[in-house]
Amino acid sequence: MSHAFISVIVPMYNEEEVIGTTFKRLKEVMDSTGDRYELIFVNDGSKDRSADMIRELSRKHKEIVLIDFSRNFGHQIAITAGMDYAQGDAIIIIDADLQDPPEIMLDMIAKWREGYEVVYGKRIKRKGETWFKKTTAMLFYRTLRALTSVDIPSDTGDFRLIDRKVCDVLKGLKEKNRFVRGLISWIGFKQTSVEFVREERYAGVTKYPLKRMLKFALDAITSFSYKPLRIASYIGFTISFVSFIYLLIVLYQRLFTESTTAGWASIVAINLLFNGIILILLGVIGEYIGRIYDETKNRPLYIVREAVGQQLDSEHHARKSEDER
Ligand code: UDP
Ligand code: MG
Repeated sequence: MSHAFISVIVPMYNEEEVIGTTFKRLKEVMDSTGDRYELIFVNDGSKDRSADMIRELSRKHKEIVLIDFSRNFGHQIAITAGMDYAQGDAIIIIDADLQDPPEIMLDMIAKWREGYEVVYGKRIKRKGETWFKKTTAMLFYRTLRALTSVDIPSDTGDFRLIDRKVCDVLKGLKEKNRFVRGLISWIGFKQTSVEFVREERYAGVTKYPLKRMLKFALDAITSFSYKPLRIASYIGFTISFVSFIYLLIVLYQRLFTESTTAGWASIVAINLLFNGIILILLGVIGEYIGRIYDETKNRPLYIVREAVGQQLDSEHHARKSEDER
């Protein structure tokens, strides 16, 4: 079995309660593989000591790389940055809070050795997550499946292994409002899954409050589907058609019968209803236009304050000399 170089990407945002333990667990598991590896911690603008703790550890442990963002850019961007810096033959993305059990990485690496280029973790059970989170997640994946044609497997998060080839393609996709797991499905390649039980958060609280979850869901849908726009036009057509029929009825009553349709209240009610519908549909269009605007501004995806790590620059050189040995 030839030796590989494996990159593990850990996005972190205010994870000081867990990050020390996470490092230990990751190191234990990766040491047991016998492969060479790097642990890339992307500090997504944490306001706590997460980055300092990793910087401290990186003095002793040469496999640590720290990418320190200038501010919070978001989970999906943090993962993307990790990929930009990753030098491995295989790249694993894992959450910092130990909800994704590090031991599963071994199964992923085994599948990769069998020739799979994407190995995603499939949650067969979620422990210690609220009823609300589970329900919204379920609804989200259903909606996504109904609205998009990309086959995004359900019950998968960003916990997955990707081959170097996949990572290189992904690095070429520069879209701003990223939904990484969707992009990975879209890219294709030989994909498979390993099952795992999603653990409770080891410590700390979720960094995905409702507002972020909504943004995440909207990014996912708008990145992969025009259907909301099409639905908007369908609704428009339907309402126009029904209104036209109603107009004919009212006119008929007025001209050919004794009674006329009266009512100030009904006009106001109908007006409010239709104005509401129009505003929602404008909002849908706005979501897309806003994203087009984001793309055209051409700002960088993220800004790095500093990148720390003993293997960071010398890596290619080091690998070469090892191959020659
Ligand atoms: N995270 C991040 N930036 C953010 C929010 C979250 O890098 O703006 C990281 C976080 O530190 C964790 C991962 O993304 O490693 C998943 O977040 P979390 O566990 O809070 O989400 P949940 O598991 O509750 O969905
Ligand atoms: Mg979590």
